[in-house]
Amino acid sequence: MSTEPIDRYAVAGNPVAHSRSPDIHAMFVAQTGERLLYERLLCPLDGFEASLRGFAAAGGCGCNVTVPFKFEAHDLAARRSPRAALAGAVNVLRFDTEEQGGWFGDNSDGLGLVRDIEHNAARPLAGLRVLLLGAGGASAGVLGSLIAARPAEIHLANRSADKAQALVESHADWAAQHGVRLAASGLENVGAGFDLLINGTSASLSGAAVPVSAAALKPGALALDMMYGPAARGFLDWAAAHGFEGRDGLGMLVEQAGESFLIWRGRRPETAPVLAALRAQLAVAP
Ligand code: NDP
Repeated sequence: MSTEPIDRYAVAGNPVAHSRSPDIHAMFVAQTGERLLYERLLCPLDGFEASLRGFAAAGGCGCNVTVPFKFEAHDLAARRSPRAALAGAVNVLRFDTEEQGGWFGDNSDGLGLVRDIEHNAARPLAGLRVLLLGAGGASAGVLGSLIAARPAEIHLANRSADKAQALVESHADWAAQHGVRLAASGLENVGAGFDLLINGTSASLSGAAVPVSAAALKPGALALDMMYGPAARGFLDWAAAHGFEGRDGLGMLVEQAGESFLIWRGRRPETAPVLAALRAQLAVAP
């Protein structure tokens, strides 16, 4: 058995108790034989940087970043991938040394979401009309990848409409390059006829109702909440009651975790068996 200190990773956020990321990475470890430990790191709302510095000093090699710190993580990174720079939000940090160029920030949320929709849910995005709710770190992280999948339109709606507008403006050139119509608004009067609803707000996390009218979606539309576990139940029930195909954020979580593992360890684990095992553990519908 090795006497080397084990490489430590974590999911850093507030709250983090609900996170399934430690279970997912434990399954990746079992599958790949990589020697690492993945923990939960609850950070005070005014103490994100101090928590990360403490974790790095105690042997941390990197972390995932969750609500509400993805923008702060972007600013903490010394270097960023192009997709993280476009998003202005980081959900993966690798604690590279100063000699290596300093902390590296990336964003795997968008790739995770697109893979889950197109591959796991078998709904190709090309040509679809997409309604994306929320303009926080999660929506910022996925918008670039959604655009790259070339839907016909993405309407970004947020409680604070100015934040949706700012995200649309920062992605305008990228959208034009891909021939995608982008629009922003508040949560009321978003229009109708959408094929796909993505809830990237934290409404479900706080137990709030689905923050948009069901009249916005076409019959049979896919309605996906980035939330997962018991907190997604209300959203999935709402989707079923209106004849939509409901989907939680577990597939996105597993896919983004696979990409994070690749960024840290240089190898991509198999995600399909991990998603199946997690669903069996949680016994929730997709
Ligand atoms: P942020 O705190 O950065 O942003 C929260 C967003 O939700 C804001 O747009 C906010 O609007 C909106 N919001 C909060 N409460 C309500 C409400 N009651 N009604 C309407 N809008 C509301 O969080 P993140 O963007 O980082 O995360 C959002 C969610 O996505 C979380 O639940 C997170 O767990 C989940 N997530 C899941 C992932 C996965 O892999 N499955 C990956 C990433 C995130 P306003 O701007 O007006 O305050």
